[in-house]
Amino acid sequence: MDTRHTSQPKAAGGLPGNESLDTPEQAEVRQLARQIVSRQSPDEKIRSHDEAHTFDHELYRGLGEAGLVGLGVDAASSAHPDARYQVAVVEELAAGPTSMAVCLIVQYMGVQLLTTLGTREQKEDVLAPLAGGAQRIAFALTEPDAGTDVAAAMRTRAERSDGRWVLSGTKTWISGPKVADHVIVVARTGPAEPSRVDGISLFVVPTTAPGLRIRELDTVGINSLDTCELVLDEVQVPETALLGAVGAGFRSLLATLNQERLNAAAAALGIAEGAFVLAVRYAGERHAFDRPVGAFQALQHRLVQSALRIESARGLLNRAADAAASGERADVLSAMAKLAASEAATEVTDQGMRILGGAGYSREFAMQRYFRDARLYTFAPLTDEMLKNYLGEQMLGLPRSF
Ligand SMILES: Cc1cc2nc3c(=O)[nH]c(=O)nc-3n(C[C@H](O)[C@H](O)[C@H](O)COP(=O)(O)OP(=O)(O)OC[C@H]3O[C@@H](n4cnc5c(N)ncnc54)[C@H](O)[C@@H]3O)c2cc1C
Repeated sequence: MDTRHTSQPKAAGGLPGNESLDTPEQAEVRQLARQIVSRQSPDEKIRSHDEAHTFDHELYRGLGEAGLVGLGVDAASSAHPDARYQVAVVEELAAGPTSMAVCLIVQYMGVQLLTTLGTREQKEDVLAPLAGGAQRIAFALTEPDAGTDVAAAMRTRAERSDGRWVLSGTKTWISGPKVADHVIVVARTGPAEPSRVDGISLFVVPTTAPGLRIRELDTVGINSLDTCELVLDEVQVPETALLGAVGAGFRSLLATLNQERLNAAAAALGIAEGAFVLAVRYAGERHAFDRPVGAFQALQHRLVQSALRIESARGLLNRAADAAASGERADVLSAMAKLAASEAATEVTDQGMRILGGAGYSREFAMQRYFRDARLYTFAPLTDEMLKNYLGEQMLGLPRSF
């Protein structure tokens, strides 16, 4: 067997897996995502897109046609897709074509914002093609001087002029605008009163808008989805580009962050699983001292520790997704799930690199891609440090530390 890449993470590796925890509908969604990945995203294709830094349009089309982008949203209602379906799709993708998992996290955010805040026109023009997989969206919040403390430090502004909005500023580290049709831009439209999160609004901007410049940035991972700087040089959009109420944009975003965290946890978990299966296979097939290297206790302990990390993160993620889907409080569980999954992904990919020895350092093996891609989830969409701050306050009831 070729151990360079991993195509079917669930088939080997000995993890209990998540099927037994899925609801029947969630299991169906997961199965569908897995089939599409296995059919349309073989290992060599993942590797070649990663090496060439190209987006897999064919895979995205397949996901869209199968209904996995919209996940049943109806442009006529404001109900957004079930949290459990989103995490199932993201996890399956992250275990293989990881960059597509990042892309779907952004699409789900767009779908959620448009279903809850969109006007009828925005739902028809932007949400419907997005949910059907015919179009894509990007989401631009972070700025060169504003990451974690983005509401307070935001410089991008939108001003009303002659019945239009004019947007100026710079956004950075934005996922996928080169392959997107629209970008949701977060901009300051008024004073930060009564709180720093007030006076901020959302705009749906076509990526072809005059004055919008997109420059790809050179990052170490997520190669198959562009990461870009966006310069908005007096970009003019009609009044109808406003998404939600003026000045209430950041507060609306806060409502979507829980799902984004859940999806980030699912992506990190999927990466850990993909790396784990590859490590187990390699340990069974690579020989030293007349034995598979997996016969050595040192390697077995690494693998068992990895399995523990994965299963602990999975348990938290499932609890959090169930809570979110049934409308219960899910913020603390989601923050814990994201932390557990990001730590699992970092540790499991590190152990995987060690288990593969020199092969881990080779671009011919997928381990280095998992190792690079896993790093994203230590700081995005929110850094692990800030999640701990959040848990200190919200879970333990201690004074806010920032
Ligand atoms: C590949 C990639 C894709 C991305 N995609 C998107 C996207 O699509 N859209 C988007 O808007 N953004 C995106 N981002 C940006 C990402 O969300 C930010 O990088 C992230 O929010 C962290 O912000 P920062 O990088 O500015 O870190 P900073 O805010 O500069 O933080 C630096 C360090 O300080 C720590 N720190 C800050 N404040 C505190 C505190 N109070 N207590 C303890 N520690 C603290 C942080 O934890 C971190 O370790 C992406 C980034 C990358 C690299």
